[in-house]
Amino acid sequence: MNKKRLLWTLQQEAKNRLEAIGWKEPLKGKKISADTSYYSVKNLEVCKDLGVDAYVPDPQFRKRDIRFADAARHRRSVDKRHERYKSKKRWFSVEDFKLDDHSGKLICPAGKSLYVKNRNFITPNGYKAIAYQAPKSACHDCRLRSKCLRNPNTVSRQVHVIYGKRPGSITDEMKQKIDTEQGRRIYSRRLGIVEPVFGNIRTCKRMDRFTLRGKIKVNIQWMLYCLVHNIEKIMNFGKTYAMCPG
Ligand code: SF4
Repeated sequence: MNKKRLLWTLQQEAKNRLEAIGWKEPLKGKKISADTSYYSVKNLEVCKDLGVDAYVPDPQFRKRDIRFADAARHRRSVDKRHERYKSKKRWFSVEDFKLDDHSGKLICPAGKSLYVKNRNFITPNGYKAIAYQAPKSACHDCRLRSKCLRNPNTVSRQVHVIYGKRPGSITDEMKQKIDTEQGRRIYSRRLGIVEPVFGNIRTCKRMDRFTLRGKIKVNIQWMLYCLVHNIEKIMNFGKTYAMCPG
């Protein structure tokens, strides 16, 4: 499922479960944080509607954080190899499409004209854009298809040319919140709260793929792993408590 819309489902499920054990308005005023892949207008609006105090940073938030100014020095060679691989696998981006000032049309690298599909398009990150679409007939036999369309089944290319940002948008509010000292502190806590859970289940419990198929069986397998993880936590917490009862 697309993470850009997933926060609603996650929060609704958490709310239902907590209400089932007697909590009243369990999410109202609570702090939640989610990583950058959850950053979208839709998700932020859902948090606002539920009265949740959310901390969901945009993908560029580390570039604005002075603590990460020299983070590149820690980059491992494996990352550089990955970058080289990525650079070979480059698809045409919006910069490869040229706007014809005379006709007002967008021209693709194959010289075809894209038509305006939506002049008031809002991107998932809250930018105002014009959405252009290539005619199906142009892309169908195009010799540059493999460099233009990531998914071979896509019928024709769509390009969004960004020209502004909605004033006072919900995404601007989130950026300002994340850039504060408190915002950074709250967001970085998720590294210690939730990432070890995935690290434990995936590495220590060796659950790096589901061995069952189908939504119901996969769900059961996932819940069994979570059950074991939680029993382990209770066991370890009990041990720690017994050693330091005070
Ligand atoms: S796939 Fe379509 S949009 Fe892309 S270069 Fe070819 S004709 Fe142009």
